Amino acid sequence: MKILKSVDEVKQFISQYKYRESIGFVPTMGALHEGHLSLGRAARSENKILIYSIFVNPIQFGPNEDLDRYPRDLEGDMEKLSSIGVDAIFFPSVEVMYPEGFKTSVSVSDLDKVLCGASRTNHFAGVTTVVSKLFNIIEPDNAYFGKKDYQQLTIIKKMVNDLNINTKIHGVDIVRESDGLAMSSRNIYLTPAERGSSVLLSKALFKAQKSCSSFSSIDELLESTKGIIESDGAFRVEYLELRDRVNLDTLTQCEGEGVLFAAAHIGGVRLIDNIEINFGV
Ligand code: AMP
Repeated sequence: MKILKSVDEVKQFISQYKYRESIGFVPTMGALHEGHLSLGRAARSENKILIYSIFVNPIQFGPNEDLDRYPRDLEGDMEKLSSIGVDAIFFPSVEVMYPEGFKTSVSVSDLDKVLCGASRTNHFAGVTTVVSKLFNIIEPDNAYFGKKDYQQLTIIKKMVNDLNINTKIHGVDIVRESDGLAMSSRNIYLTPAERGSSVLLSKALFKAQKSCSSFSSIDELLESTKGIIESDGAFRVEYLELRDRVNLDTLTQCEGEGVLFAAAHIGGVRLIDNIEINFGV
């Protein structure tokens, strides 16, 4: 498993395979868990070469967010990645990605303003800028993103389509802890008491998925779900919204399919989760 730190090193590495072997790519910010590894496992079975990137991207963090304390564990990450057969890790510095004088931004309008974009103003432009740079550097045939960040996945798909980028985007199911909490690098910030209460988020979403057809309006469904999330007083819901899977338009009727998106704060931690809803079932 090679550790590549510069763009030239990546270019040299991929030049051995380009146009001959398919390259699968998994972008991450490190502090890897089973959720991140599931993306690699999906990629491993569909590509000859598997590349991960580990880069805590400063431009996707807001001024009051956790950039400085974001967990970092390169040693642990390397051990996990070698166990799933990764060929190379791109591990650039901030200076490699954003050399002095860097001025360009890539953004997908409208989709980046709703849900997490409403409170995290420049977050998605930071994500689409770094992902388009990574795609230009690595030139992957296939790239893998988790449904855990469903809005991000939707935005990346739109960007790739709009800009004719030659990479196929794959969405991979959410990996959860045994009690249902979606795995996240930020879960380590939870105190034991908060960790106990955190199960209410996924529990509420699963209940909504199961009982959605018993509600006569979307408002009723959302009200009931919010009540469960906040039932022991530990969570404060930031948003809970039912939206279309592709264009993220708000659903107004209990019909068809959608995604129920949630963000909620517990202690000093902000968690997100989502679940696919099908009113026809
Ligand atoms: P991050 O390092 O948090 O930027 O995540 C890197 C990739 O891993 C993104 O595509 C995430 O959606 C994905 N990911 C993170 N947590 C999970 C999870 N619990 N299940 C599936 N994918 C995940």
